[in-house]
Amino acid sequence: MNFETLCLHADNNISDEWGTLSMPICQSATFVHKGVDVPSEYSYSRLSNPTRRHLENTVAALEGGYAAYAFSTGMTAITVAMMLFEPGTHVIATDDLYGGALRLFRNVCNRNGIEFDFTDTSDPEEVEKRIRPNTRLIYIESPSNPLMQVTDIQRVCNIAHANGAYVFVDNTFLTPYYQRPFELGADIVLHSGTKYLGGHNDALAGFVVCATKELAERVLYYSKTIGGQLAPFDSFLIERGIKTLPIRMDRISENALKIAKYLKTEPKIKKVYYVGLEDSKGFGIMKKQSRGFGGMISVEVESAELARRILAQIRIFRYAESLGGVDSLITYPMLQTHADVPKEERDARGINDRFLRISVGIENADDLIDDLKQAINGNG
Ligand SMILES: *Cc1c(COP(=O)(O)O)cnc(C)c1O
Repeated sequence: MNFETLCLHADNNISDEWGTLSMPICQSATFVHKGVDVPSEYSYSRLSNPTRRHLENTVAALEGGYAAYAFSTGMTAITVAMMLFEPGTHVIATDDLYGGALRLFRNVCNRNGIEFDFTDTSDPEEVEKRIRPNTRLIYIESPSNPLMQVTDIQRVCNIAHANGAYVFVDNTFLTPYYQRPFELGADIVLHSGTKYLGGHNDALAGFVVCATKELAERVLYYSKTIGGQLAPFDSFLIERGIKTLPIRMDRISENALKIAKYLKTEPKIKKVYYVGLEDSKGFGIMKKQSRGFGGMISVEVESAELARRILAQIRIFRYAESLGGVDSLITYPMLQTHADVPKEERDARGINDRFLRISVGIENADDLIDDLKQAINGNG
C-alpha cells in the first residue's frame, strides 16, 4: 500500500460485532479475563488499549518501524525513550532543539548522570569529533527548531553506528509523509503527535517508534512501568487527524513556499529561514532525504517594534504557541518556546527580540500573504 492509503488502512483489523468502520473509542481502564490461564489480548489500559493500539499500528506502519507507542504528550515520549540510557552515558544532540527537549536534557537527564554535548549536527565532522567511548546516542531534530538547520541523517547514522551509538530522530516537523528516518538508518523516531500528525490543535500526543523488536521491548518495559500513555479519546482524535495527513501536508507546504517567497521580497524582513527555498543552507540535503519541505518558517524582522506590531496586527494568523495544525500561527520564541534558554545563548544563535516563528496552515495562501502584508506594513 502507498502512504496515502496506509493513513486510512494500515490497520484494518478492527474486530467488533457491529462492523464499525472507524475504530471505536474503547473507554475502559480494564478488561475482563476469559478465564484463569486463558490469555486475553488486553488486560489493563496502561499496558495496552484497543483504540491506542490501533493508532500505534498506524504510526508504526507510516514510519516503517517495528512498533510504535503512543503517549499523552511529545515530552512524555522523549522522556520514556531517554530511559534507555544509564548514568555515565554521553549523548551528542542538535544544539537547536525544541525548548522542552533542551530543558529535559539539561535539567533532568543531566542531573541523572547523562552527559550532553550540544552541537550543530548539520556539520557531520563536528559530530564525529565529539564521539567518546561512552557515546551511546546521537539525538537529531531535522529541520531544527527554530533555525531550520538540516542534518544529513544518513551520514550521522553511519558515524553513530560505527561507534556503537543509537540515533534518535525527532520527526515532528516533516512527518513520515515527507521524511522516513528509518530508511536513513535511525533507531528510534520520536514525534509530538500534537503537531502535524493530529493536525487540528485539539489534542496533545507523543510517539516513540522503534526500528527493532529489541528496542520495542525495552521501550514497552519503561512505558508500562512509567505510564503516561495516550487516552482512548485522544487516540481516536489523532487517528482521525492522520487520515488527512498527506493532503494537509501538501497544502501546507505549497502555502509555506508561497509565503516564504513573498517574505523574501519584503524589505522589512531581514532573514527568512525556510528549507524549501533553493538558496537555503540545507536545501541540497533536504532534496536528498525528504520528499517535501513542510510548513515551518522563521523570520528575523527589522526591529523588535515590528515583531510586536506583527503579533498585535495579524487577523488570520494567530499569536499562539504550537505548530503543525490546520490554523496558521505565529510565535515569539524568545518569550515562549525558548524562554528557558539562557539569553546569551539565544542571542548567539539569533533567537532575539526580532525573531518570529511561523507555522503555516491550510487557509488560502493569498489571504495569508495579505494578512502578513498588512501586519508588516501597518496599512490594514
Ligand atoms: C512540540 C514539540 C515537542 C513536544 O511535544 P508536546 O506534545 O508539546 O509535549 C517535541 N519536539 C518538537 C520538535 C516539538 O515541536
